[in-house]
Amino acid sequence: MENKTVKKNKIYLKSFGCQMNLRDSEVVRGMLEKEGFKFVDDNKKADIVILNTCAVRQHAEDKVWSEIGAIKPGKIIGLIGCMAQNHKESAFERAPALSFVVGPGDIAKIPEIIKRLLKDWGHSPKSGDSPQSISPRSLYESRIWETDNSCRPEEIYHTGFYQDKKHAYVVISEGCSNFCSYCVVPFARGSLRHRKFTDILEEINQAVAKGISKITLLGQNVSAYKDGKKDFIKLLETVNAMDGVKELTFMTSHPKDTTVELFKAMATLDKVKKYLHLPLQSGSDKILKLMNRRYSSKTYLNLIKDYRKIVKDGILTTDIIVGFPSESDEDFKDTLALFKEIEFAGAFIFKYSPRPDTAASKMPDDVTLALKEKRHKIILEIQRKNSKKYKW
Ligand code: SAH
Ligand code: SF4
Repeated sequence: MENKTVKKNKIYLKSFGCQMNLRDSEVVRGMLEKEGFKFVDDNKKADIVILNTCAVRQHAEDKVWSEIGAIKPGKIIGLIGCMAQNHKESAFERAPALSFVVGPGDIAKIPEIIKRLLKDWGHSPKSGDSPQSISPRSLYESRIWETDNSCRPEEIYHTGFYQDKKHAYVVISEGCSNFCSYCVVPFARGSLRHRKFTDILEEINQAVAKGISKITLLGQNVSAYKDGKKDFIKLLETVNAMDGVKELTFMTSHPKDTTVELFKAMATLDKVKKYLHLPLQSGSDKILKLMNRRYSSKTYLNLIKDYRKIVKDGILTTDIIVGFPSESDEDFKDTLALFKEIEFAGAFIFKYSPRPDTAASKMPDDVTLALKEKRHKIILEIQRKNSKKYKW
């Protein structure tokens, strides 16, 4: 029995969603490799399948449910990431094949959970070849892990595993407290917590020692970073001065916390890439207010004017949501006008998708899918032209 347990060590890990999720997957992989697990790139060859999921739009969730349905029985299946946090126990009802569910705040527990499931699997009297055949009680205890949303332990960042040999994503803050009315992130990833300045520098030092020279600082809203008196600009200056770092970039910034000081730092710090991703979401002041974005179309436009003046040839990209509740033709025209005026080098355009718990989910989702698609197409067409013009 013991041998059987040891042999079941092949993991297939798939990531959905944002860079933060990709980085979390690296962290999970690093922790599990340290424990002797092997990673395979075909789920058919795996004993354990882990899906690191996104909950930002319904479409992203639907893909995961169907992926789970397609996995052959007899494997341990773990649902982790934002969907795990949102669905918690109810995920087992929706997908009975699941073996464990762990939210983003608790990824440090994953190696322990898998080891425990493998132990139960190997030792259950009726184990056969399936983790689903262990007794219901032990199964229940093994797979329910309350996603408690506490701060993650610092050690998880020091497994040293980065997918890319030259480039590292370095998390500077976790969660978000902005509560944009459409967004599930504050619920899925908890409130904003900043990593310690010294811990971030230590991780970068370790990455550089492994030959990594490009760093991307990651957070839902990096411009709001704070550790005591040290802010995001101080962090950029400090990392810019580190030997071995050749290129430095960051994402994402929220317009309400993005300042002229940041642009000046971008212009003067030689290693900082002249690239800004600044989600606009909408050009209508009515919709921006309903989205709880806390800036107006005018302040956004002025910010961009400053950016272009200060950061010469700076690249600018954005996110747009079409079809937010009550978005009228007039509101969409405002978005279109601003979008045309600014000319982004790149843009992600999303159709509004109501998410559980969010303030917007209480508003009627009254823009028809046909109209969302029409508006999506109009913006996309403009962006296609702009992307050709602004190659980057
Ligand atoms: N923290 C980042 C990323 C948030 S999620 C930020 O603030 O920019 C990435 C993008 O997904 C958002 O910018 C938004 O455009 C989009 N998005 C988030 N929730 C959405 C929803 N409910 N429906 C459609 N698009 C959404
Ligand atoms: Fe979501 Fe807004 Fe936070 Fe971005 S800033 S993660 S859109 S709540």
